[in-house]
Amino acid sequence: MKNLVVGAGLTGAVIAERIASKLNEDVTVIEKASHVGGMHYDYIDKETGILVQPKHLNFLHTNNKFIWDYLSNFTKLQPLTFRPLVSIQGINATLPLCLLTLHEVFPEDFAKMLENKLISKFGYNKKITLADMHRNFDEDLKFLAEYFYENVFKPNTIKQWGISENSIPDCSDTYYPFDISMDDRYFKDKYQAIPTCGWTNMIENILKHKNIKLKLNTNFSDINPEKFDRIFYTGSIDEYFDYKHGELPYRSVRTELENNLTDLNGQTFNYPYNFDFIRTNVYKKIIPNVTYNTDKDIVGFEYIENFELGKNERFYPINNPQSIEIYQKYNDEAKTLPNVFFAGRLGEFKYYESDELVKRAFETVAKLIDKDDISNTEDNTLTEAENNTNE
Ligand SMILES: Cc1cc2nc3c(=O)[nH]c(=O)nc-3n(C[C@H](O)[C@H](O)[C@H](O)COP(=O)(O)OP(=O)(O)OC[C@H]3O[C@@H](n4cnc5c(N)ncnc54)[C@H](O)[C@@H]3O)c2cc1C
Repeated sequence: MKNLVVGAGLTGAVIAERIASKLNEDVTVIEKASHVGGMHYDYIDKETGILVQPKHLNFLHTNNKFIWDYLSNFTKLQPLTFRPLVSIQGINATLPLCLLTLHEVFPEDFAKMLENKLISKFGYNKKITLADMHRNFDEDLKFLAEYFYENVFKPNTIKQWGISENSIPDCSDTYYPFDISMDDRYFKDKYQAIPTCGWTNMIENILKHKNIKLKLNTNFSDINPEKFDRIFYTGSIDEYFDYKHGELPYRSVRTELENNLTDLNGQTFNYPYNFDFIRTNVYKKIIPNVTYNTDKDIVGFEYIENFELGKNERFYPINNPQSIEIYQKYNDEAKTLPNVFFAGRLGEFKYYESDELVKRAFETVAKLIDKDDISNTEDNTLTEAENNTNE
């Protein structure tokens, strides 16, 4: 069988590796960019040695040991914890919103009173939403829900999705989370890391297999698909079908890099309402306990804008009733193509975290293997591992 994988992001790389090593078949991977990595693209800055993620920050976070072990075959994973901050009325506060945030933004007595009320109403170590807090008959908790709604959720949603104020749900319908705990980790998963030499390096290693041929700077439109028995398409599904049912909408991110700043706060700082950028990433502070040969920080300023074909890149799929209807039309048509498989964030028009992508890439290839053959493979182990570890 001749296999073609379109796109050398994480999804395409894992699919290619699985076909090469599990099916022992040849795979050609084409990538329109001049490098592999897709959304995970990163590099080590030559002058400073700092790992820069110029598209967006990507942390591996998973409860699935199998995925951790699988990726560890291709890189050394550097364990770390993501602790972003948020600017609330000029105060540097903890995100996720939690009991620590209360003590940072309110006078001590008031914060303590709110903390006691939250614990006695909902219990310690419980995750609630602003809606839960607001629906409560307690006036202080209602005030608290509205405070975070007005200062974090509402301005952040307007910036993130570019929508008007009146299309934002009321506070009483807002599923924005609040943790009744002192745990300031943004992700709570058991395993959290970044590949020590970067995601791009890890994806290059995944693709280093004798059965895989990688062609960079090659667009799907440049090749003859009929030369292949199977096609795994990780580009945008609307592009594959030449936009015949309309364009799928995405939000895009533009990161502007600055390398002459020093002493910026935190790893990542979120600005829901001040400035035009939505967050800053201080790359030197992402991996802890590393000494760099510079006192300068390389900082990424993230601006969110609408995706426009030919102008910028697709980042967040915008899922709304209209776009879901368009996607369904493409998906129905995709089902009529028995040898074309659409996968990943763009192929499935769905936001996936990195561990979910690895799992789905395994599943995509496992479906090609005769059921009897996979009973003892790690493809099956992955499903079992997932069931056992997602507590
Ligand atoms: C802003 C943001 C933050 C995120 N943060 C995290 C995080 O902290 N942790 C986490 O686990 N996940 C995170 N994710 C999710 C994760 O980064 C993405 O889901 C993932 O990178 C998608 O991988 P992919 O391979 O499916 O797609 P992509 O990475 O987009 O790869 C697709 C590849 O296909 C190529 N391609 C497309 N069309 C063609 C064509 N016609 N011909 C040839 N090549 C083509 C593209 O150039 C690209 O390289 C984040 C996502 C976003 C958008």
